[in-house]
Amino acid sequence: MAKYKWILLVAVALILSSWGYLVHRTIHQLAIYKLPSGLQAFFYDNKEKLVMDAPRPDQRRFTDKTEGSKHFIDMEYFGDSAKYALPQTWDEAIKKYPADTLHKYGTSPYNIIEVYNKLVQAFKNKNKDSILFYATDLGHYIADAHVPLHTSLNYDGQLTNQHGVHDLWETTVPELVLNEYNLYSKKKAKYISSITQATWDIIWHTHSLLPEMFAQEIAISKNFNDSTKYEWKMRWGKNRRFYSSEFARQYNKALGNSINKQLLLSAENIASFWYTAWVDAGKPDLNTLIDTPVDGKQLKSELKLYKKNKLIEKGQLIAKEVKTDD
Ligand SMILES: [Zn+2]
Repeated sequence: MAKYKWILLVAVALILSSWGYLVHRTIHQLAIYKLPSGLQAFFYDNKEKLVMDAPRPDQRRFTDKTEGSKHFIDMEYFGDSAKYALPQTWDEAIKKYPADTLHKYGTSPYNIIEVYNKLVQAFKNKNKDSILFYATDLGHYIADAHVPLHTSLNYDGQLTNQHGVHDLWETTVPELVLNEYNLYSKKKAKYISSITQATWDIIWHTHSLLPEMFAQEIAISKNFNDSTKYEWKMRWGKNRRFYSSEFARQYNKALGNSINKQLLLSAENIASFWYTAWVDAGKPDLNTLIDTPVDGKQLKSELKLYKKNKLIEKGQLIAKEVKTDD
């Protein structure tokens, strides 16, 4: 029995990862386009790595038991007044709650702040490998904090008979309609005066999207029966039940552009966190860390395609050019 329980836990962890590989990678590429020129050349020079490694923290969960809790926070556990009562920093939180409790219900915002500080240090040390490592991890955790179900006890709709809604929102829908999304937004990286406050603002905004996403699932379900609502797919060596493509399309439409918006917001915030870390580190000159001089022409033409939302069409979105399950 214990063995089966363990298998089940691993299976649940696999299913409830986070934005799929496709979206994590897309977000990192878009974030690079939002950086100011002083920082952009270094990030652009390492674009491939920053993009391809974007899902790495999810892969780490299979080998590192402490990894899982960094990707979510179940806000409801902390009560209705959590917004005011929940300590914003880990040092304060650990005085109020046992460490076990914090890990069980997730440490997402505390972890983002910690990884941010490591990135600042990496910039100060001008250590190329460390900068890329923490910038990539930070991007992943920030992107996860934009997924509503990463901020809820009802993380897979399991408490409201909406099992599978996690995968529907963050993987099935974006994989189906990414081509139709607008991947361009005007906002560029800006300096954040309080990383702690900005992190919690992200969490609370994301959390506020939950009622609508659950309600639209119920509304759309009225157009389906069990055989049209779901489909069975082989994944992770097992036949599993997922929401059908048709359901996913209608669900996406009903939500308006909310998933697309969260994707763009993720990229905007990641760019701002990267930029702020660099400024807080004293704006070190990164040109000495660049391997190959950046091809200004190539960057310019990509930025043009980005602005016209033609990255996918012209085969320039790396995430689309590689297999999603590698
Ligand atoms: Zn994740």
